[in-house]
Amino acid sequence: MPERASRPPSDTVVCTPGSAPAHVRNPAAVAKPEVPPELRPVTTLKGVGDALAFKLAKLGIEAVQDLLFLLPNRYEDRTRIVPIGSLRAGDRAVVEGEVQLAEVVFRKRRQLLVRIADGSGFLTLRFFYFTAAQQAQLVRGAKLRCFGEARRGSLGLEIVHPEYRRADVTDAQRTEDSLTPVYPTTEGVQQGRLRILTAQALAAVENRHVRDWLPPTLLADLELPSLVEALTYVHRPPPGADVELLAAGAHPAQRRLAFEELLAHQLSLRLLRREIQADPAWPLAPPGELAARLRTNLAFALTGAQERALADVLADLAKPSPMLRLVQGDVGSGKTVVAALAALAAVECGFQVALMAPTELLAEQHHQNFDRWLRPLRLPVALLSGKLTGRARQATLDAIRAGADVPVVVGTHALFQEGVRFGKLALVIVDEQHRFGVHQRMALREKGLADGRFPHQLIMTATPIPRTLAMTAYADLDVSVIDELPPGRTPVKTVVLPEARRDEIVQRIRAACAEGRQAYWVCPLIEESDELEYQAAEATHAALTGALPGLRVGLAHGRMTPAKKEAVMAAFKRGEIDLLVATTVIEVGVDVPNATLMVIENAERMGLAQLHQLRGRVGRGAAESSCVLLYRAPLSNPARERLQVMRETNDGFEVSRRDLELRGPGELLGTRQTGLMTMKVAELSRDADLLPRVQAAAEVMLDRHPDNIGHLLRRWIGARERYGKV
Ligand code: ADP
Ligand code: MG
Repeated sequence: MPERASRPPSDTVVCTPGSAPAHVRNPAAVAKPEVPPELRPVTTLKGVGDALAFKLAKLGIEAVQDLLFLLPNRYEDRTRIVPIGSLRAGDRAVVEGEVQLAEVVFRKRRQLLVRIADGSGFLTLRFFYFTAAQQAQLVRGAKLRCFGEARRGSLGLEIVHPEYRRADVTDAQRTEDSLTPVYPTTEGVQQGRLRILTAQALAAVENRHVRDWLPPTLLADLELPSLVEALTYVHRPPPGADVELLAAGAHPAQRRLAFEELLAHQLSLRLLRREIQADPAWPLAPPGELAARLRTNLAFALTGAQERALADVLADLAKPSPMLRLVQGDVGSGKTVVAALAALAAVECGFQVALMAPTELLAEQHHQNFDRWLRPLRLPVALLSGKLTGRARQATLDAIRAGADVPVVVGTHALFQEGVRFGKLALVIVDEQHRFGVHQRMALREKGLADGRFPHQLIMTATPIPRTLAMTAYADLDVSVIDELPPGRTPVKTVVLPEARRDEIVQRIRAACAEGRQAYWVCPLIEESDELEYQAAEATHAALTGALPGLRVGLAHGRMTPAKKEAVMAAFKRGEIDLLVATTVIEVGVDVPNATLMVIENAERMGLAQLHQLRGRVGRGAAESSCVLLYRAPLSNPARERLQVMRETNDGFEVSRRDLELRGPGELLGTRQTGLMTMKVAELSRDADLLPRVQAAAEVMLDRHPDNIGHLLRRWIGARERYGKV
């Protein structure tokens, strides 16, 4: 006996993680002995040939550990057999019963119906595809164990195409001893296969071969389970595990992994910033003469908050490394003039500035503002819009390439298309950053490369987001906040009214316009159809024109040519239109301080960010403004809450905080737009409380454990998909 036991098996290949495969006589001959088991290719696992490895690679699974970080979406409980009588429609469960009846019937299609019973009730199994062998097996008296989703069918509860096996043969299967993980959809790789593979990968974990890259000091503070415990738990939760807690992603094991993932993303962005800032840029520290002249020409003085943000920007610009700064400020906080003063720093040093806006309309508006401010300084401002074509476009492109004659260029993302070349670009300003992603910013940086120097980047956003979230989403940026509105603005009063009280609103408009004020009426966005949206706006325009004789009622919608739309907006701005009926095109558009009333129809259908942006079109002057949110009953709960938030606060940060609660950060930021990648376990809103500790941990890692960072990134973000080229 002892003899036999000590002899290594000669014909079986046992691949114990951490040791050389047993069939290899000379361990030194194993390829790369320093490669830890979790980093070995999946082909080192049993049953993984080239074909499967290829499919797995498409899912981003290349090393053994990638399997461990492919985390289940949900779980099935196959740890116990459920009495058929207690089964409800929608349950996914294991049942066991004896076949009472099996027959092939034709109901539209040929199908096999098998009725099983366990004494507590009966259940029908329905097969549309079945072999003769199956049919022979599923006969009266056979005992079956089945798994599937019960649903209500014509014969009572049924399971269509259950997984099943005979329960009465020798070697009857035990129930599972842990909850069964269900992994994210994985093309071409069956769940069963993934379970076998993750089981093998877990064997490595149990032997503690997956390195914990978080230093113990950090972990001690977290009071969360170790990596090994966490991974084991999430892949194979024990019977009786709290499925609801798991489904909510709130189990400590999941939080442990979420923490690590958030940390990896944070580190990735931080490294990206470091990398960019290691590049050279032109230091821009002019005497400030142009800026001084602009300031004297302005009708107002900057607010303290504007001055602070500007000082941050100017300090960055003076450095020989590229600025990466985000200026956050509520609608109407006056970001544009801060951008203009920053631009002048570059211009005064003889460089070009590109200002990028998310829409043509906004680009046009910026062009107007900049032109108004810079023309008296004899600085031409070019607009590279979609409307500019042919020769005129070519001439503009040539001038931009030549450099100094066009110090400031405004446009949409078209600014960064092929064919646009800047002669001496030193500063890129991006407005409404949340619509551009990290990757677009990267592209833009390459665009500016001139003489081996990279442009400074100033990003402005009117989507105020809570600080911790900002530090996560924008970890690659420094952040300044303009947290003060220009003086003399009276907070906008917001009222919420049912549509039925439309007539009252019409009276309000009449009263406001009688005082020489102007008003907006915003018609609903109809996503499915431009045509319907346009018709609705036309109808509203006609109705209001009829109801308000003597008032000049204008109309602006997305279907109009930009020139026409601009003409209407301009007329409104000049005060030649009293009431502007518009679709949501005005969301990021006109700045008309004399407009004091905003009516928003079907407000219940709009998101908080959009409502807040629209409301920001009024309250821009000294006079008291109001915003009327009209809704169509019945209100859903989320809609009611949104309207409530609008009524309660005018503060963009507060609106955004509540928006975060109601919707989660994915939607708040627009996951794709921010370039924040989809995460495997973490969810920003749910795990937001971890963020301060994630940030602190990132500092510790950067300072004291820089060598661990690459491993963490490899694990969570993978080799292919990184922010930038870290
Ligand atoms: P936003 O931050 O939403 O882009 P804008 O830059 O469009 O805001 O500014 C809104 C309005 O406030 C503009 O009419 C602008 O000229 C004006 N403004 C900006 N700064 C001040 C200030 N310090 N005092 C008074 N008005 C200001
Ligand atoms: Mg703006």
